[in-house]
Amino acid sequence: MVQKQTRITGIAISPGIGYGKACIWGTAPAVKRRKIRVGQVSSELKRLEKAVDMSLKQIFDIRDKVSDKIGEKEADIFGAHAMLLRDPVLMAQVEKTIVEQRINAEAAIEEVIDESVKVYATTNEMYLKERIQDFRDVGRRLVDNLAGFNQECLLADESDIIVIAAEITPSQLMEADHSKIKGFVTEMGGETSHVAILARSLGIPLVSGISNVLNRIKAGLPLLVNGFNGTILRQPSNNEIKAEKKEFPRIVISESEIEKLNKLPVETADGHPVTLMANVRSQTDIMFAKKFQSAGIGLYRTELAFNNKNSFPSEEYQFNTYKEVVQQIAPHPVTIRTLDLGGDKFSPYYPYLKKRELNPYLGMRAIRISLARPDILRDQLRAIVRASAHGQVKLLLPMISGVEEIRRIKRMLYRIMRNFQKEGIPFDPDLRIGAMIEIPSAVIVISSILKEVDFISVGTNDLIQYTLAVDRSNETVSQYYEPMHPAVLHLLKQIAAAANREKKEASICGEMAADVRYTKLLIGLGYNVLSMSSLFIPQIKRVVRTITQDSARELAYKALNLWEIKKIKKLIHL
Ligand code: PEP
Ligand code: MG
Repeated sequence: MVQKQTRITGIAISPGIGYGKACIWGTAPAVKRRKIRVGQVSSELKRLEKAVDMSLKQIFDIRDKVSDKIGEKEADIFGAHAMLLRDPVLMAQVEKTIVEQRINAEAAIEEVIDESVKVYATTNEMYLKERIQDFRDVGRRLVDNLAGFNQECLLADESDIIVIAAEITPSQLMEADHSKIKGFVTEMGGETSHVAILARSLGIPLVSGISNVLNRIKAGLPLLVNGFNGTILRQPSNNEIKAEKKEFPRIVISESEIEKLNKLPVETADGHPVTLMANVRSQTDIMFAKKFQSAGIGLYRTELAFNNKNSFPSEEYQFNTYKEVVQQIAPHPVTIRTLDLGGDKFSPYYPYLKKRELNPYLGMRAIRISLARPDILRDQLRAIVRASAHGQVKLLLPMISGVEEIRRIKRMLYRIMRNFQKEGIPFDPDLRIGAMIEIPSAVIVISSILKEVDFISVGTNDLIQYTLAVDRSNETVSQYYEPMHPAVLHLLKQIAAAANREKKEASICGEMAADVRYTKLLIGLGYNVLSMSSLFIPQIKRVVRTITQDSARELAYKALNLWEIKKIKKLIHL
């Protein structure tokens, strides 16, 4: 008998242990056209009928929920879906295609839907064009139901869910009901993708890099996700769950230890202070930032703060959001980063790109979008400058490649400040400006950048990606994404040394800052300000308190003299 493989190994992306029922999220794989025999036609028609019934039931359930929770108008959308499924002409066409062409139901649905969409695509009437979306949605639902995919588990009553998906986008993750989700398992997604960052900040375990995941896990299957060692366990017994939880809690810090740590200063064993700050993007993160006593916000990812909006947030809306954060975190600073859209971050309100780029990380991203859309940039800068009247605000610019981008932003910023002065709008005239150092070109010209700004913050996620030419969210090349590459270490050293010469603050806000394995090395390289998802602050603090500065410097010195990743890893016990 073949032993069923119960444990599947992937890559650990977000720590934690989660247990729940598998919920297949997303869509079935692309439809395959299959010829059927004459004798199979009637069973294919039955499959279609079953899928239509199931789809109708799902749609009515959603419609009722939406009408209860949101409103009748919104619920109508699903009424329209139900009408399509009950449209005798449309369904007759699908049946006719199955019978006459002798093909499988999925392929027949796809063909008929494509034809209908083509008709609507040629019309100039907006309301008819909108029907295309309904056709696609209904078609997809039918195909998913034929394939046994269940997309409704997030709306169902199930309370503990493990989301299984080929890929999750940051906006999908944001839209989900986080109280139900106990874990994520995906096929794609690297260690430093934005989804990984979000999952970590929500404290939800995530395991990625499981090939063909949609075909290996069925909806409803009980699953344990271990985000520490990157494995998932199918149908675990109670004993297995207990054993797994027992083996791994040592990595997580208990509430009582957090309380104890909170009372102690963040300093090395020989008394050198270290500043641990928080990376945030939401109210939940702010709550954690306070709970774990962060020394302020080192990175406020504004592009994610407004992800639930359909249109670009107005200056007033942004101002109120920033002001609230600044007031909550006072007297500590809040480092607000201008929009870093593009790459793997797309939002409903993201108006710039109409078509997907082949290399989005090398495309229209972050500061490039802000510079191309001065209207959006102006709103954001005005909101940030206004918020500076209510606490300590620092302005951070992402994806800076050299001084010119900084100067262009500063020109607009100073114009805004001059106008505010004239109009009597309050703001902090000493608002500090910083640059993210995450493109190798910025390191090459670091001295000139340091003359333009008050501080710098190193985005190691992107710095590694751009230095080693490894897409940070592509798991196929994840073995090449190596923070311990000597080139990365030398760049980090170069940045810290230049900042030290100019007497300007250099912090790290990429994921390396949140990883206890790198803490000593980073301190040794000259970084004493680290910003991370708040959940990691206690662990990093615990490690910082065991390190002496001399031993950290010695470790960095040794590492900088090694030219093989393997040897560097051995040196730092990886
Ligand atoms: C980074 O690149 O390290 C960073 C902190 O920015 P983001 O992850 O948002 O690109
Ligand atoms: Mg970055």
